[in-house]
Amino acid sequence: MGKVLIIGAGGVGTVVAHKVAQNPDVFTEVMIASRTKSKCDAVVKAIGNPAIQTAQVDADCVDELVALFNRFKPEIVINVALPYQDLTIMEACLKSGVNYLDTANYEPKDVAHFEYSWQWAYKKRFAEAGLTAILGCGFDPGVSGIYTAYAAKHHFDRIEYLDIVDCNAGNHHKAFATNFNPEINIREITQNGRYYENGQWVTTRPLEIHKDLTYPNIGPRDSYLLYHEELESLVKNFPTIKRARFWMTFGQEYLTHLRVIQNIGMARIDEVEYNGTKIVPLQFLKAVLPNPQDLGENYEGETSIGCRIRGLKDGKERTYYVYNNCNHQEAYKETGMQGVSYTTGVPAMIGAMMFLKGLWKRPGVWNVEEFDPDPFMEQLNKQGLPWHEIFDGDLEV
Ligand code: NDP
Repeated sequence: MGKVLIIGAGGVGTVVAHKVAQNPDVFTEVMIASRTKSKCDAVVKAIGNPAIQTAQVDADCVDELVALFNRFKPEIVINVALPYQDLTIMEACLKSGVNYLDTANYEPKDVAHFEYSWQWAYKKRFAEAGLTAILGCGFDPGVSGIYTAYAAKHHFDRIEYLDIVDCNAGNHHKAFATNFNPEINIREITQNGRYYENGQWVTTRPLEIHKDLTYPNIGPRDSYLLYHEELESLVKNFPTIKRARFWMTFGQEYLTHLRVIQNIGMARIDEVEYNGTKIVPLQFLKAVLPNPQDLGENYEGETSIGCRIRGLKDGKERTYYVYNNCNHQEAYKETGMQGVSYTTGVPAMIGAMMFLKGLWKRPGVWNVEEFDPDPFMEQLNKQGLPWHEIFDGDLEV
């Protein structure tokens, strides 16, 4: 059905490549390209399908990307490099006539700030070029938006309260490690919290608000209010929402390490002089922390991510909780990666599948909740991320 180019050979890229290879009827030709080609070759070896091509590319460089796109001629690029590369890859897509999908919104390297405005600004150019760009198609953002769209389509006349809840109850047996790229992860968590209420954004201190939430098959976990990028598009696309929040669980050990990292200046993203060389402390920290891709082997337990929604149906209030639990060991056995990479990579593959099947083909730049959620929800059940629903239970939020 179509040619796909995966950019990035980290934890998420590895899962995307495995899942793409499992669906050869949709993905007829595959290439994986990244900064370090040997990592792409290792992924292909692990999959055991030598027909998957590999290439080296610096995705910060539009010209290099254009040359690669013109050589391989993919129909769609799955961008699972880092958020810093979103705009260069989108530019290259426009220059070469390629469609685009990613899992995280653009962030400039020198400011820990993320918002969709930079990518939404491309809407007219993608529309005029007849190209589709699908933004934020991992789990959260990604499935969180698709769950919301599914709830709005089938179970509510008005969604009024949305709480996205993200629990990782896994144990990787390391004193401190992040589950995806440490630089991106620590930048996200150390920012101020933010949520949406009655048409306004409310800012909190980092990790200021927390409460115990009970996760299916896991139990109660201390959950912290964070700002997360999908809140920005969801309140725009579902204007009946009165309040939207995002919660993530953290253990005390993790938070203690994080506090120390911040207090000693290791979370800084500005350059410091060290022995005549300029280094960014957070990038140096990434080099000495465990590689998230190596956590899988000893990872036990599961993740549980879902949407808790309150609103009106036929004039009556109702609640709805839709979620997936993903087991780290099962993810590892299938792809060699832990559950956090798995829950991101599977939806990215499904998004590209939706595009190639013509179900999510619409020139312009779109967030996932703007497409029909039904065929995507159907694939989640088939591709390893089955979902469950609880109606009219206590949402706790
Ligand atoms: P990793 O750090 O494991 O992998 C990133 C990959 O991108 C590496 O292979 C890296 O190459 C490559 N890369 C980085 N810079 C460049 C560049 N300039 N040119 C080419 N390749 C480059 O990250 P993850 O796999 O954990 O995360 C991938 C993406 O997924 C991130 O954007 C992250 O924010 C997103 N994500 C989204 C989630 C969601 O639910 N929506 C959840 C988790 C992650 P090298 O190996 O040489 O460094």
